[in-house]
Amino acid sequence: MSRILVVDANARGRGKRFSTLDVIGVGPRLVVSLLKSYGHYVDLSPYEIFISNPSIARDFEVLAISYMVSDVGAVRRAIDIWRKINKDGIVMLGGPGTLDTNLLMRLDFDIAFRGESEVTLSNILSRYKDLRNVLYSVKEHGILPGLAVKMSSGKLADGGIGPWASREVVSKVIPDVDTVTRYPFYWASRVYVEVVRGCSNFYRPTLVAGTTCLNCNMCRTSPLNLRIKCPNNIPPGCGYCSVPVIHGPARSRDMDSIVKEVKALIKIGVTRIVLSAPDFLDYGRDLLIEGFLTDPCNPKPNIDIIDKLLGNLTSITEIADGDAVISIENVKPCLVTEEVAKILGNYLRGTVVYIGVESCSDKLLTHIGRPSTCSDALRAIELLSRYGLRPYAYLMHGLPFECEDDIKATLSCIDRFKSLGVEKVVLYRFTPLPYTAFSSYSRPEPAVLNPIKAELYRRVIEFNRGQKNNLLNKIIDVVVACRYNRDPHYLISYPVKHGPVVLIRASPNFIGTIAVVRIVGVRSDRLVYGELIYVKKRLKLRQYI
Ligand code: SF4
Repeated sequence: MSRILVVDANARGRGKRFSTLDVIGVGPRLVVSLLKSYGHYVDLSPYEIFISNPSIARDFEVLAISYMVSDVGAVRRAIDIWRKINKDGIVMLGGPGTLDTNLLMRLDFDIAFRGESEVTLSNILSRYKDLRNVLYSVKEHGILPGLAVKMSSGKLADGGIGPWASREVVSKVIPDVDTVTRYPFYWASRVYVEVVRGCSNFYRPTLVAGTTCLNCNMCRTSPLNLRIKCPNNIPPGCGYCSVPVIHGPARSRDMDSIVKEVKALIKIGVTRIVLSAPDFLDYGRDLLIEGFLTDPCNPKPNIDIIDKLLGNLTSITEIADGDAVISIENVKPCLVTEEVAKILGNYLRGTVVYIGVESCSDKLLTHIGRPSTCSDALRAIELLSRYGLRPYAYLMHGLPFECEDDIKATLSCIDRFKSLGVEKVVLYRFTPLPYTAFSSYSRPEPAVLNPIKAELYRRVIEFNRGQKNNLLNKIIDVVVACRYNRDPHYLISYPVKHGPVVLIRASPNFIGTIAVVRIVGVRSDRLVYGELIYVKKRLKLRQYI
């Protein structure tokens, strides 16, 4: 048995998290559970806590860091600290960050997991009780799929991407719940609960540098299982996204396992639960077909099973009483029908839902492998907001093959977003990721350096600020998280049903409560001021405040 410390370095960039401070992801909790299931002693530490108290490294033999490609600076710092304290300890890496081989080579690690970890972990832990033996075995037996090992020569033994876990395996292990309490203000954070693994979009971009789409249409019309492979090896999915390659087609997690996890999270005081999925509406669609779910738009959503899942979750006492809230992460526009919007509105009224619009140019959407058109997205937004959800729209700029007219098409839709009920627009800059069709493209210039993109950027900021003004005088429930470092007279709180950070002027005694506040001012497109009206509930927490 090894003593393993899992450090969550996701979204820490060079060592500091600047946004989404209230997010607790699934990955690190899942790894804790998997390692525990093989008899190891495992604990979890958010990156900041590990950095501020490095002596905890003394209690462990293995450091396991979960990170994204953009977090290499933070990872390097964590490893430096670990190596100083724990010279003989092992460094294990996991998460999407390990997919970038160049960056991986620059890190001082021992073992890295590339892709999904369930099957790879089972392969190594059933053979080697001591993780150190994995390092010794590579020379004799070669490297296993899903693993990369840094050899003493400095070279990388690379087994490639790990196999996708089956639906049964995905449902078997419940991500660890107890270690959620290691995160500061976990009671006010959005805790992600996985409901679907993988993505059903196996369409491909039609334009990719260095290769040619044969227009064989296999990825769009052939039998589902044949869509996994493209004769010209173009990776599946939207050109900027690696989910279909790394996580495979959409598989739904067992409903009982989801409900059990949500109940356990609520028991420790979690109030904001996000049902995590590349597309929530893929939930149960895989049960309607034979083989792999590789069609993003057909069959239509499995209404019965979605109804049952949301019904089961919203009848949990705390959720029914409004002391905890569930929301969903993303939906694909082509799957949103009136019936779907009605069911979502029935259970999730007043919560946020994210919709990937990306661009309002259909030509560009087809080029990049999107399954929905701009009018699909606008119709989905209208339906969801008509039935009481609060749509947030994703846009992206700097995509390969994007031209000025594409940006103009998106600009022309900004006012429509407002009239259709979009509450917030999130504008991303395209970033090439490993294992995607667009991995070889360079990162585009920031929007502000290009006149037409700068106009889009400015309109999005203006849009979001305007929507925040609509919040003025609204009365909402918030969870009080912590002191506001920049001005200790204020506390940070988060709307229970999601929205901008609300600063309230109140005593720290209110931390750990659900409070009712009136929005009285807008400080920026991310921050508003609230006035405390009364405290609705003091939460029973497992962390000393
Ligand atoms: S991306 Fe591949 S599978 Fe799809 S149409 Fe082009 S060549 Fe055929």
